[in-house]
Amino acid sequence: MSDCIFCKIINGDIPCTKVYEDGAVLAFDDIQPMAPVHVIIIPKKHIATLMDVDTDQEVISRQLFTAAQKVAKIKNVAVGGFRTVVNCNADGGQIVFHLHMHLLGGRKLEDQLG
Ligand code: AMP
Ligand code: ZN
Repeated sequence: MSDCIFCKIINGDIPCTKVYEDGAVLAFDDIQPMAPVHVIIIPKKHIATLMDVDTDQEVISRQLFTAAQKVAKIKNVAVGGFRTVVNCNADGGQIVFHLHMHLLGGRKLEDQLG
């Protein structure tokens, strides 16, 4: 998608602070971090929202979780703990319409989710 900010990051048109990359996913520091560790993990394939993951794309879910494990280790929050969040559509607070997982850690996170 030519007008998608995360596709532009994948293409190298917009810079990012890369945390982890493999053939399927890219992870980079959030530009407006809400915690000492705040990483965005995205599939390299453009998928707008969680609701747009087709049944034949379910491998993407596993790839995102596998990448989350690797990011947690890289950022040294695997043992202390962290939170993953996927916002979907307007009420979910989704602003960038390229499927992404937030990984937050490095401080004690609040009990409430919203
Ligand atoms: P969401 O509300 O789930 O769509 O979250 C989008 C996230 O992307 C926000 O936390 C933004 O701070 C983050 N973000 C937007 N643009 C960039 C960028 N160029 N580099 C890194 N993170 C970004
Ligand atoms: Zn995209």
